[in-house]
Amino acid sequence: MTGRQKKMLVRIIAAAVLLAAGYLIPAQGWVRLVVFLVPYAVIGWDILWKAVRNISHGQVFDENFLMALATVGAFFTGEFPEAVAVMLFYQIGELFQSYAVGKSRQSIASLMDIRPDYANLERDGKTEQVDPEEVAVGDVILVKPGEKIPLDGVVLEGDSMVNTSALTGESVPREAYPGSDVISGCINQNGLLRIRVTKEFGESTVAKILDLVENSSSKKAKAENFITKFARWYTPAVVIAAVLLAVVPPLILQGGWNDWIHRALIFLVISCPCALVISVPLSFFGGIGGASRNGILVKGGNYLESLAHAETVVFDKTGTLTRGVFNVTAIHPNSFSEADLLELAALAESYSDHPISRSIREAYGKDPDLSRVTDVEELSGRGVRVRIDGKTVCAGNDKLMEETGVQWHPCHRVGTTVHIAVDGEYAGHIVISDEVKPDAVQAVSALKQQGISRTVMLTGDAKAVGESVAKELGLDEVHTELLPAGKVDCVEQLLKQKSAKGTLVFVGDGINDAPVLSRADIGIAMGAMGSDAAIEAADIVLMDDKPSKIADAIRIARKTLRIVTQNIVFALAVKGIVLLLGALGLANMWEAVFADVGVSVIAILNAMRALKNKL
Ligand code: ADP
Ligand code: MG
Repeated sequence: MTGRQKKMLVRIIAAAVLLAAGYLIPAQGWVRLVVFLVPYAVIGWDILWKAVRNISHGQVFDENFLMALATVGAFFTGEFPEAVAVMLFYQIGELFQSYAVGKSRQSIASLMDIRPDYANLERDGKTEQVDPEEVAVGDVILVKPGEKIPLDGVVLEGDSMVNTSALTGESVPREAYPGSDVISGCINQNGLLRIRVTKEFGESTVAKILDLVENSSSKKAKAENFITKFARWYTPAVVIAAVLLAVVPPLILQGGWNDWIHRALIFLVISCPCALVISVPLSFFGGIGGASRNGILVKGGNYLESLAHAETVVFDKTGTLTRGVFNVTAIHPNSFSEADLLELAALAESYSDHPISRSIREAYGKDPDLSRVTDVEELSGRGVRVRIDGKTVCAGNDKLMEETGVQWHPCHRVGTTVHIAVDGEYAGHIVISDEVKPDAVQAVSALKQQGISRTVMLTGDAKAVGESVAKELGLDEVHTELLPAGKVDCVEQLLKQKSAKGTLVFVGDGINDAPVLSRADIGIAMGAMGSDAAIEAADIVLMDDKPSKIADAIRIARKTLRIVTQNIVFALAVKGIVLLLGALGLANMWEAVFADVGVSVIAILNAMRALKNKL
């Protein structure tokens, strides 16, 4: 509890005791008024003050004004204890609210406790602690066991296990050894690491994630906008109704002023939409925070909302459902030796970031002589074209061979075939194969269980490969041999076929699928640890590369939306009932204030459930 909250608690207790004392003192007339004015002043002076101040700023229908009007009105109609009680319960509700909101913020802040405080910079043979923002690309930093890795970089020296759980929610640590990339925000567990920094702090993974989480509340869900609009007319409408209720019936019935004013005051007590105004954004805030604790970064409440209505889920294949780590299963040369063909392929692929390229370089094992390679062209969805020793070399799929007019040989083996041609002459092919990710089958079946009616895979890979993967995973549909533009067309078709309420989710790895990510209702990029492109293009970012997280994300989204709906329906129903009972003269002020504060407390407690998303 903060100091301010503690002070308020003291005031609440004092006012409650004084109110109880007021009941026990058998005072009459103006003495009785004073007896109740004392606790009223103790608990309500700041509200009265704020009401006056806000009116002078032209802000009339705020909650302070409403409470002040209701309670002052109650004093005029002789309901002294009621006036004190309304103020007292209102303040209890406010205190609870500020406590709950503070708690949620705190727990999200600690979830996102990934901002590093310092970096151990190596300078002239010494190390000194500096602000991470002062470190430049190319600098060398030391990270001791137990320290947070402050910047993205490459390990130069040292072996260690790195705990990524603050970013991914994944408790199994990763290995770090010379040459491996490490990400800021992770904890170095056991070994000393010397790291060459590859990105400035402002561009680092940590800075990007923090940015994203901090900005997420600016993208509002429909439910949030609805509540804001609703609050704008609800309060004035209820106040006008209260005025009419206080004036019209006594004029018609010629009397009974006190009774009707009393009924009108009940309207004022219930006219504040606080429960909704606080609890709805708090639910989304909690849902986003709870998701990020599991390594699922959602860029705004609107995406959480549309994810809850997911109907079609479209996956990219390579790197998304499959590991994107290919093993060479066969080398079939036409005119070279096997070793020469592999070397040629590795040279051709030496500049590409595509999983296929990385795997071929890995299979080659040696460092290719980059000076032999010039004029690199990456042909997305097909392969690469480069010049090696002055000769044009193409490496890629059937499409690329057809385009270049090369007589290629089909391969009978199952797998992705990378053909190689030199100066238009066919040189042979390398067959590589990928594996599906260990949790991909479960990921697809979990989506089915959640009622996702259509699961689709898109790939630029060959028909045989695509179909066998789709079958293994139990996907409903597969479209193969697509270029990046073809994937966009495909998603556009699928968007037309879904129902009006449902949404389409596209899941990719961020490598050459940015156009599709942005075309889908919700773009999810996975394996974001270190991939800027993915973080930027997507609406939701999965820090690790587990497709099963998609079902988790949908579950969290649905839970959040359920909580929001519950709160809206519950709060409106209770307020409606109290308004009705009040108008009919069947409720008193005690009941009204109890109902109003009770709704707020319950709605906030319910909203805080959104934070808890233990998987
Ligand atoms: P996916 O749709 O499965 O993610 P891509 O669109 O990235 O796959 O690539 C489609 C196909 O294009 C690959 O299966 C491969 O045949 C070919 N290809 C793409 N990039 C390369 C490359 N760098 N080297 C060789 N072949 C490639
Ligand atoms: Mg891809």
